Amino acid sequence: MQLVFATNNQNKLKEVQALIPEYIKLLSLADILCIEDIPETQSTIEGNAIQKAEYIKINFGYNCFADDTGLEVDILNGDPGVFSARYAGPQRNSEDNINKLLAELEGKDSRNAQFKTVIALHLNGKLETFTGICKGEITNEKYGDKGFGYDPIFKPKGYNKTFAEMDLELKNKIGHRGKAVALLITFLNNL
Ligand code: IMP
Repeated sequence: MQLVFATNNQNKLKEVQALIPEYIKLLSLADILCIEDIPETQSTIEGNAIQKAEYIKINFGYNCFADDTGLEVDILNGDPGVFSARYAGPQRNSEDNINKLLAELEGKDSRNAQFKTVIALHLNGKLETFTGICKGEITNEKYGDKGFGYDPIFKPKGYNKTFAEMDLELKNKIGHRGKAVALLITFLNNL
């Protein structure tokens, strides 16, 4: 089976590639000569994942899946959520996003948060979605230099280190994306 993973994010690609079984041939956007920015203009994480998968299906004709992820902070009513990438502005800069979030949480008495990944799969004309959630908390400062995005300030529940202090294998085992990919693989294995 051949599936396009609709992302330009090399970190996501690396995480997902490590989990996908050999019988699934993963194609990148470069493999299908897709060089445009795929629109993600919906108001929910799920909506954006579906929009990205549908874009590839409609414009390139491939079976495909896409991931959209957001960091939801309880005391900020779920923000930055669907706006996680552009939280500090259209430059989509992770350092800026982290600094803004740390500033917003200064002095707040709860730092509980969760990462949510929705994977939308477009397979042979049918759409399926798979959701992975990882609960944890936002640290007071940055720790670690692995991973990407908000990883240096997210400490998953039950662990005393941030995602950015973990190797890929552990992040994938307990993380939001790993959980969503596990559901995707179970679905594909049972076809
Ligand atoms: P998107 O899913 O590519 O739209 O990502 C939304 C935002 O969340 C971006 O700022 C990403 O850097 C960040 N992000 C996505 N996945 C992760 C993750 O696994 N860890 C930390 N940050 C992430």
